[in-house]
Amino acid sequence: MKVIRTVNEMVEIATSVKANDQTIGFVPTMGYLHDGHAKLIDQCRKESQIVIVSIFVNPLQFGPNEDFERYPRDEKRDCMIAESHGVDYIFIPSVEEMYRDNSSIKLQVVERTNVLCGRSRAGHFDGVVTVLAKLFHITKADLAFFGMKDAQQIAVVKAFVDDLNFSVKIRPVPTIREDDGLARSSRNVYLSQQERADAASLYSSLKVGQHLIIDGEKNPVMIIDEVKKNIHRHTNGTIDYVEILSYPDLKAVTVINQQIIIAIAVNFQKARLIDNLVINEHGIIVRDPFE
Ligand code: AMP
Repeated sequence: MKVIRTVNEMVEIATSVKANDQTIGFVPTMGYLHDGHAKLIDQCRKESQIVIVSIFVNPLQFGPNEDFERYPRDEKRDCMIAESHGVDYIFIPSVEEMYRDNSSIKLQVVERTNVLCGRSRAGHFDGVVTVLAKLFHITKADLAFFGMKDAQQIAVVKAFVDDLNFSVKIRPVPTIREDDGLARSSRNVYLSQQERADAASLYSSLKVGQHLIIDGEKNPVMIIDEVKKNIHRHTNGTIDYVEILSYPDLKAVTVINQQIIIAIAVNFQKARLIDNLVINEHGIIVRDPFE
């Protein structure tokens, strides 16, 4: 595995890979890799001849009071994990390298952002698509792998590449969880021991919602209420949102009669955790919601 730190070198490598007619699979991350990232890399390895992983904590997607400075970082460990999963190139640019002279263009996402995380994280998805536009160009990716853990992000990214005719194909990968159901996240390290134990209730609360739908409940308000009750019962965290929306359009629904997302965000002392299930109208988990 080769570590690349400059845009020019990454572009040169990607250009020569393409000249050899090889498929480039790409996994963008902010590092501090865990089993969720590893799953994306493994899927990418299966479908691509050359695998590129990026590690870049993108300042543009963090708000002023968010955790950009203290976001966990461990480059050495990340490189070991990436290499052990068969990554060919790991692209680790500095902030200065990525955002050199180009402050004259600002991308703005205007759909799917006034709900879920978009509501409390103004400008977040603008920052996400800006860095991805650059990374897709730099890596010349044919395929890019994203986790369903960040379901709003992948819905926005899919619309972004469709709207702007990027040739990269977006591949969703199911959420990887701990044994008790907690979704793997770099931010789980912020949890106290008690919060870590309680945090499993995010997933169990989603399952409560799912089972209500399986049992025939069609009213999202009722379901949201039960999910909230379950979270309150099991954690001291404060609920940022529990929402049920159509997926991937992320529109309000008044009756469960289509593919939907049940999404949760809970604030703990030092971490804000999110989780979701994307299910069909019968409550069955959907593996690829873009099919
Ligand atoms: P991040 O480093 O948090 O920006 O995540 C990089 C990619 O890994 C994103 O596409 C995430 O959705 C994905 N990811 C993060 N956690 C998980 C998980 N538990 N299961 C599957 N994918 C994940």
